[in-house]
Amino acid sequence: MIAFNVPPFIGNELEYIKQVINLHKISGDGTFTKKCNKWIEERFNAQKVLLTTSGTSALDMAMLLCGLQNGDEVILPSYTFSSTATSALLGGGNLVFVDIRPDTMNIDENLIEEAITPKTKVIMVVHYAGVACEMDKIMDIAKRHNLKVVEDAAQGVMSTYKDKALGTIGDFGCYSFHETKNYSMGEGGAIVINDSNYNEQAEILREKGTNRSKFFRGEVDKYTWVDFGDSYLPSELNAAYLYAQLLQADKINENRRFTWNTYYSELKPLENEEKLQLPNVPENCSHNAHMFYVKLKDLEERTNFIKYLKERGIGAVFHYIPLHSAPAGLKFGRFHGKDKYTTKESERLVRLPLYYGLKTDDVAFIIEAVKSFFKGKV
Ligand SMILES: *Cc1c(COP(=O)(O)O)cnc(C)c1O
Repeated sequence: MIAFNVPPFIGNELEYIKQVINLHKISGDGTFTKKCNKWIEERFNAQKVLLTTSGTSALDMAMLLCGLQNGDEVILPSYTFSSTATSALLGGGNLVFVDIRPDTMNIDENLIEEAITPKTKVIMVVHYAGVACEMDKIMDIAKRHNLKVVEDAAQGVMSTYKDKALGTIGDFGCYSFHETKNYSMGEGGAIVINDSNYNEQAEILREKGTNRSKFFRGEVDKYTWVDFGDSYLPSELNAAYLYAQLLQADKINENRRFTWNTYYSELKPLENEEKLQLPNVPENCSHNAHMFYVKLKDLEERTNFIKYLKERGIGAVFHYIPLHSAPAGLKFGRFHGKDKYTTKESERLVRLPLYYGLKTDDVAFIIEAVKSFFKGKV
C-alpha cells in the first residue's frame, strides 16, 4: 500500500527532543520555540512570528486580533478547510463566501469587491496547495476599503508571491505544522504578525491574558492578568521536532518539488489529450509542492478513479466539501454571487500521494496506474 501521507521525519528530531528533556523545560516558549520563531522570522523576513498549538489556533488568534464587532462580515472562499471559517466565527464574524478561480482553486480576486458591504471588515485568503492568491490585487482592495487581510497560509510554508513569503503579505499570516503539512510538529502552527502594533496584544492573547512575555524579557517586574486571553503555546517537545525539520527545510522542499515535477511532466501528455487537468501555478508564484492534484471529468469519474487506485494499493483522496453547503456553513454563512466553480471543481479534484521521502519507484507506479486508468478512454 502506498500511503497518501506519511508525516515528515528527517532524523534529528529525537536528538532535539532529548535536549528538551535534559533542559527540564517541556512547557512552552523555551529555547526551541524561540529558535523556531527566529528561524521563520529570518528566513521569511517576517516582522514577528509566534508558534501556536495548531494552524487553527493561529487563525483563531488572527481573527480575535482583528477585533470584529457583532454583525461584521468576513469574506472568504468556500473551498477550504473548516478552520478558516470557524476562526472567523470565533472572532465574531458573519461569513460571506466568494467563488474560486478554477485554475488555482483560490478565491477569485475579481469577485471580492462586489461582495463588500459597509459591514465588511476582513478578507481571508487561502493559498490553496501552497500556490499564492493574487495578493497585489487583494491588498489593493483591502487598502481602498480599509479592510484587514488574514492569510491562511497553512499549506504555504516556503512558498512565495513576487519573492515575498506567503503569510507575510497581509496583516496576519497563519501556518500549520500538522502531520499532513510539509513541516510538522504533530499538531502545531504559527502566526505571523506583520504590523508591530499588534505584537504585545498577540503575546497577551497567547499567554492566557497575561503579560508574562514582557515579564520574561525584564520589561515589567511582575506579571499579571491584563486582558482577554487563551492558551496557544505549544510544548517544547513539539517545537524541538519542528526545529529539526526547519533546519532541513530546503532538503524537504526540494524532495517534494522533485516528486511534484515528476508527476507534472509525466502526466502532461494526458492533459494534452484532455483526459485530465493539472494544477496551474501563475507567474510570480513559487510553490512548495504541498500537494499534487488532478482534476477529472466529473464526480462519477473521480469516484471510479479513486476506487481504481485503491484496488492497486494507492491512497488517493479528495477534499473539501464546500463550506457553504456543509451543515455549519448553511447555518452561519451566505454565498455571495454565483457558485460557478466552487462545487463543480471540488467534485472533480483528487490528490495523489505526496510526502517527504516518497520513493521514486512508488511515484512511477502511481503514474503508470493513472495512465492505465485512462487507457482506451475517450
Ligand atoms: C491544515 C489546514 C488548516 C488547519 O491547520 P491545523 O494545524 O490542522 O489546525 C487550516 N487551513 C487550511 C487551508 C489547512 O490546510
